[in-house]
Amino acid sequence: MKKYLRSANKMDKSVFAKTKYFIIDMDGTFYLSGNLIEGSVDFIDRLKETGRDYYFFTNNSSNNVEVCRAKLEKMGFPVKKEKVIVSSHVAADYLNKKHPGKRVYLLGNERLTADMENAGINLVDEDPDIVLLGFDTTLTYEKIRKAALYISAGAVYLATHPDLNCPTADGFMLDTGSMIEMFAASTGRRPLVLGKPMTATVDYITDLLGCGRDELAFVGDRLATDIAIGMNHGIPCALVYSGVTTPEMYEKSQIRASVAVQNLKALAEYL
Ligand SMILES: [Mg+2]
Repeated sequence: MKKYLRSANKMDKSVFAKTKYFIIDMDGTFYLSGNLIEGSVDFIDRLKETGRDYYFFTNNSSNNVEVCRAKLEKMGFPVKKEKVIVSSHVAADYLNKKHPGKRVYLLGNERLTADMENAGINLVDEDPDIVLLGFDTTLTYEKIRKAALYISAGAVYLATHPDLNCPTADGFMLDTGSMIEMFAASTGRRPLVLGKPMTATVDYITDLLGCGRDELAFVGDRLATDIAIGMNHGIPCALVYSGVTTPEMYEKSQIRASVAVQNLKALAEYL
């Protein structure tokens, strides 16, 4: 069995020996309900002390970089805009590289729409070559109706990320993964997903940072995205129990992390 699949011994510092860049999830990993999780900043300090760097990556394509930065700043952790990567960046890059100039029907809110326009994506309302499904918090029946018609007519079909639900202060809200299920029921088609845990995200990050996969590590609270991306690509990954996953859930899962720890503070001991 490959090393990254094995549970590391406690404080086994060899797990992240090659890691230069930690790709850190935000919600449930770095902060929760509007507050930094205790020890998150200590972890960042420890990264710096050991000559490493970090980037935040969120699948939540209803937010843009500015929203994420404002949240972090409000919690007392201001960051430069380069530090925040959203699944929408992967989608825009993928469209520009693989389908340059093609006509794209986007399901997304005003922030996602603006990000796509700024990235030079040719957004259209009728007769698209491509349907891009994002976390559309302004979804209407009319948009659903049109997208289903375009998808069933054979448009290239992409989605920013696969999360079924998004955690909120009062529970959760229905996310893009659930919209994927709705369109699958209607059209029989499923999209190529671009965010975590998919290869497009790994490729985007290694291109962006000019590094190899072996220089990355993923950290997060969600098994199907934050941890699966590491497991599926042979990249070290750390599960934190500060968000949606409990030790009981992890025990029952087939998805395996390189290390599983209480929070980022505990992860710092592996550096
Ligand atoms: Mg999370």
